[in-house]
Amino acid sequence: MSRNWAGNLTYRAAEIVRPSTVDEVRKVVAGADSVRALGTRHSFSDLADCPGGTLVELAGLPPVVEVDSSAARARVSGGLDYARLSRELDRAGFALPTLASLPHINVAGACATASHGSGVANPVLSESVAALELVTADGDLARLDRADPDFAGAVVALGALGVVTALELDLVPGFEVAQRVYLGLPLEVLDEHFAELVSCAHSVCLFTDWAGSALTQVWVQQRVGDPEPSAVGRDWFTAVEADRRRHPVDRLDPADCTEQGGVPGRWFERLPHFRADGRPSSGDELQSEYMIDIADAPAALRAVDAVRAEVRPALQVCEVRTVAPDGLWLSPCYGRASASVHFTWDPEPTAALAAVAAVERALEPFDPRPHWAKTTTSTPEAVAARYERVDDFADLVRRYDPEGRFANDFTRRHPGLSP
Ligand SMILES: Cc1cc2nc3c(=O)[nH]c(=O)nc-3n(C[C@H](O)[C@H](O)[C@H](O)COP(=O)(O)OP(=O)(O)OC[C@H]3O[C@@H](n4cnc5c(N)ncnc54)[C@H](O)[C@@H]3O)c2cc1C
Repeated sequence: MSRNWAGNLTYRAAEIVRPSTVDEVRKVVAGADSVRALGTRHSFSDLADCPGGTLVELAGLPPVVEVDSSAARARVSGGLDYARLSRELDRAGFALPTLASLPHINVAGACATASHGSGVANPVLSESVAALELVTADGDLARLDRADPDFAGAVVALGALGVVTALELDLVPGFEVAQRVYLGLPLEVLDEHFAELVSCAHSVCLFTDWAGSALTQVWVQQRVGDPEPSAVGRDWFTAVEADRRRHPVDRLDPADCTEQGGVPGRWFERLPHFRADGRPSSGDELQSEYMIDIADAPAALRAVDAVRAEVRPALQVCEVRTVAPDGLWLSPCYGRASASVHFTWDPEPTAALAAVAAVERALEPFDPRPHWAKTTTSTPEAVAARYERVDDFADLVRRYDPEGRFANDFTRRHPGLSP
């Protein structure tokens, strides 16, 4: 039995194969009626599954990281995770501007779903992608870059266009980050000061358990050399700095979390919440997450507050982050500076789904786009309707995969995601 990371999904593929060369990937794809790429299995939805068909894992490909220093770009093989990639990039003097909460995820899989970290100037991870190498439905190898009119549709493609065997990523110079955690910022502060708070540093993440009248934690990640976070010290910033390391789920061991307390460290050892050698998150959970317009964040959080009684019984923690807008057709942050409202739930599906439904009713007026990889009760039609380029994506799928070789139940359910 083969399951996803959270254990809430058993893949129904007939086989999972692990080729060791790109030519083998091409042969597998060309020879299969139904085939999909599988990354590090961190999605909670059935997005990656391939019932009755072949799942292709790229972790057996040679782990290539070719850095072109003069172009500030790296070519990265499709099987790599961010933990390994980040170490290699840092060694070469480079960095990525942002990382998700955990470095354990596969680069190709995270980019395929527009995974993100936090920061008003930091877009989704996929926005760093400058080019893709893709094994297409007939087993050919295509390269798409930003000059190609299909590119903006192909980066966040949910595995529906083919198997990405390599990515070229734009890099920034390596940097250091100091991370501080603050406790007890009153929720009412968000009504007036949300924008100031989330833009006070390179990355800011807000956590609450919706139990009291305050955020449980505010994580502030400041690039070393930048001015002090501008929110700290203001008369409304009444939070106090934590006197020891904290886990976002307060009852859990913070040893799995990245260093806090303002100790400077390399970007890849501070930007994720969880250490590469630690257990990410609680490990025993479901997740759901919604991207809304950042301008709506205070009102949307009030709306969630109003249903806290329905949310709390299933909740481990709620996290609010921000993401810069992008132009990638299926990115939940397409065309919109976003706030993401995330929930980590206890893994009891009935209670979690009741809470998810309550959250979705509360957020409905704010045009929420659910994270592709997470749990939702929204109808596929409602989700697809939130993407203005979904018809363009449908054209792309028809051209790249006319026979639906990469289609699965998830893409067939959602209008526009399969031919
Ligand atoms: C503990 C935890 C924390 C998380 N934190 C965050 C977070 O901070 N921010 C956030 O946005 N998300 C977060 N996520 C969600 C996660 O980033 C997404 O599920 C992401 O897609 C995981 O990548 P994966 O390789 O594990 O994907 P998989 O679940 O293996 O696959 C996801 C999709 O990517 C496609 N795919 C995978 N590899 C390829 C490839 N080579 N070519 C083409 N398509 C491919 C698959 O077909 C599938 O459609 C978190 C998940 C967990 C479990």
